[in-house]
Amino acid sequence: MERAKEDRLEALKAQGKNIYSISRLNSLNQCAYSAYITYVLGDRGDNNVWAALGSIMHDTLQNIIDNGTSTDSLIESLQDGIDNLDISGIDFPKDRNGGDSIRDNWVANMTEFCTHFIPPNGEFKTEQLVIYKVSEDDYIQGYIDLLRIDGEGKVSVFDWKTSSQFKGDHLIEAGRQLVLYAQALEQAGYEINELAWVMLKYCVVSWKQKNGKIKEKICEWRNYVAQIRPYLLKPPVAVDIDEFKLDALVDEAVEKNSLDGLPAELRDQFEVKQYVRYYDYTPEVIEETLSYVTDQIQSFKDRGKDEKNYPPKDVEKDSYFCSSLCGHNKKCPYYKDYCSTFINNNKKEEEDLF
Ligand code: SF4
Repeated sequence: MERAKEDRLEALKAQGKNIYSISRLNSLNQCAYSAYITYVLGDRGDNNVWAALGSIMHDTLQNIIDNGTSTDSLIESLQDGIDNLDISGIDFPKDRNGGDSIRDNWVANMTEFCTHFIPPNGEFKTEQLVIYKVSEDDYIQGYIDLLRIDGEGKVSVFDWKTSSQFKGDHLIEAGRQLVLYAQALEQAGYEINELAWVMLKYCVVSWKQKNGKIKEKICEWRNYVAQIRPYLLKPPVAVDIDEFKLDALVDEAVEKNSLDGLPAELRDQFEVKQYVRYYDYTPEVIEETLSYVTDQIQSFKDRGKDEKNYPPKDVEKDSYFCSSLCGHNKKCPYYKDYCSTFINNNKKEEEDLF
């Protein structure tokens, strides 16, 4: 969705301040040459499939929350978005065997998410601009997907995510965005209650175990019933259903990926909810984020506008990123070289063969 020009940003620009975004800061780590094309030459490049699908989901969720649009519109928008990608020739990456499992799994996860979506409770604002002042000259802008007003100056920040779970270092990298939003809100006088990602691909299934403790399992939406199959067959509270019948009922539930057809005495032991991953807002993550921000801004300043200061990725090693995730691959001379060498080598192999 096109964003309207914001007076606060325009005023900072008019004063000659440097305005960065978290994507701009991260771009140097992904590929400095790509950052050069985007931010020095001002060429945004082509949309990749994940960015395009992410923005379809974001826009539709925003519409539902702002305007009370029916949740049915999510499924329609998803389908329209996928059709439009097909028409524009934007492809999902193929899996290792050249098949469509990446596409099929993504679509299945999002379709289940749309089917189960319930608008969140509370007072929310969507697409809220925040500006974090790094120094007298440098600012970072961002847009919060979902800001919950918790009262008495307290707020919670939520970000829709269509990607996979964050693991290891990737969690810290992803967390910087939430931390920066929180820092900007604190500069504006708010107190932070919670920071979280709404992970669209996943749900959480929970149930009370025999020992009384609650067990939670995070599952992909597309086959969550299959993932809890063993617990359905041996539920915490025994059910009065014959073993063979139970087997057949559970198999049917797995097949339909739905608990709806199960007898209430079994079904009601399990609760299925959208997965919301909370992120701890600690002094450590704040310090890490602010030091990262300062380093990245300095790195942009040191590199200036000279192309030679923006080296490409190791294209051979990261050819998946170049071919599937980079919006500049059609113009990138390094990737073109790699592709032509690859084609020439293949040709040579064929010639050798005969
Ligand atoms: S194709 Fe690869 S090397 Fe070229 S700009 Fe994109 S990520 Fe960088």
